[in-house]
Amino acid sequence: MPRERAAFASVRIFASPTILQGSRSVVSTGGRIEHGKRAMTQTTLIANGTVVTAEGEFAGDVLIEGEKIVAVGRIAPPEGTRVVDAEGCFVLPGLIDNHTHLSMPFMGMMSSDDYDTGTRAAAAGGVTCLVDFAIQREPDNLRSALEQWRGRADGAAHVDYGFHMAITNASEPVLEEMTAMSDAGICSFKLFMAYKGELMARDDALAACMERARDLDALIMVHAENGDIIDLLVKRAIAHGEVSAIHHALTRPEFVEAEATGRAARIAEHIGTSLFVVHVTCAAAAAEIEAAQQRGAAVSGETCVQYLINTIDDLRRPGVEGCRYICSPPLRDAANHERLWGYVQRGVLESISTDHCPFTDEQKARGLENFSLVPNGLALIQHRLPKLWDEGVMAGRIAHSQLVDLTSTTIARRFGLNAKGALAPGKDADVVVLDPAAPRPYGVATSFMNVDYDLYEGETASASVRHTFSRGTLVYDRGEIMTEPGHGRFVRRTLRPAHRAEL
Ligand SMILES: [Zn+2]
Repeated sequence: MPRERAAFASVRIFASPTILQGSRSVVSTGGRIEHGKRAMTQTTLIANGTVVTAEGEFAGDVLIEGEKIVAVGRIAPPEGTRVVDAEGCFVLPGLIDNHTHLSMPFMGMMSSDDYDTGTRAAAAGGVTCLVDFAIQREPDNLRSALEQWRGRADGAAHVDYGFHMAITNASEPVLEEMTAMSDAGICSFKLFMAYKGELMARDDALAACMERARDLDALIMVHAENGDIIDLLVKRAIAHGEVSAIHHALTRPEFVEAEATGRAARIAEHIGTSLFVVHVTCAAAAAEIEAAQQRGAAVSGETCVQYLINTIDDLRRPGVEGCRYICSPPLRDAANHERLWGYVQRGVLESISTDHCPFTDEQKARGLENFSLVPNGLALIQHRLPKLWDEGVMAGRIAHSQLVDLTSTTIARRFGLNAKGALAPGKDADVVVLDPAAPRPYGVATSFMNVDYDLYEGETASASVRHTFSRGTLVYDRGEIMTEPGHGRFVRRTLRPAHRAEL
């Protein structure tokens, strides 16, 4: 029997006054008999794995009581403990994806993963928390957007979630409302410098939101591309009959991203606010972030897994296949890969997310005759960990601890997820068991994402997620989702330092 099958063949129960048969069992604890789900505090030991943190790794165990981690180290299991054997595996804090778009209305469509399917796929990829984007739709109102997005997520998700608020109209009432958002657990606000006529914010709106965010200890995020220049280039391309998928990338050249990145960084530096640049695709844009950091500005950024792996040539694939790779900013030439990894290794780009925003072939095909009508976004939420394992760790570009830092610990700190991102007592028991010796093929057959293709169909990941625990509950177990929709909860986030909490 291969080792990966033998381990955790079933849950072992130590010293048996306790009967544990899933979350609805009857449990004896300390002589008291407690019935049902709510009353039960289950204790789980994830034993004999290699525990990986952002600082390093060691052979050890993780003890979970209820929803929290209570101990990490070499632990003798208390009586009645469920023991999960992780021998030969890596035990990681649950990954956090701070950049997703589930059920996102965009260009007259809706991204094809909702909070049920999207968070199943997340859990299958070792993701235990995501921060999605609520997007302002009404001119003077953020609250309705938050209600709308919570309405889609509450009761549907399998892992925890928070929201950034995207501001598309920074009127005076909206600037005022940022305070209420902050109080509601939304401590990051995003502005789009692209998508002219749809989502784009001008520099005066950007500056006004930055001032407000600074005063609220909140974070400003930007989609950095020069929307005016793109609009010009797209109109010219269409007029010349240059309508196929590749022209999406050719009308959004690197300089429009670099220019907007530098501009946002300069404005943030002058105002004195913290800025996070999302989905950095190329060395030219990363260089602007590094320059700002060297000037002492509080500017940071992320890249996404596809910008380290895929290239602009993917858009040259025939027919709808090329459309699957349309996202903004676009995929770049392969020469950027090593340079982006360099920025990641130096910490200039501090995290790696997905910008998961899936659309089916039918939806993508709407723009077969006009690239500007293709809904933007890639289906990736499930693939980040296995891809970064192979392209990052196995390729010798990052250590295990850096992988944890880039996909969990730094993200938790940056976005105010104070109970997440680490394997330490007191933290939420969001834990992933990764088996480095259990290959898993990519493809629609193994994907939980609600799309009818897989960008890596035919490839095989060398490692796979064996178990994903969310607040102590086993959500994903070797290919199967174990929870009902609604296990995942909304997470309030704050970046306000404790000493200022009462102000
Ligand atoms: Zn995005």
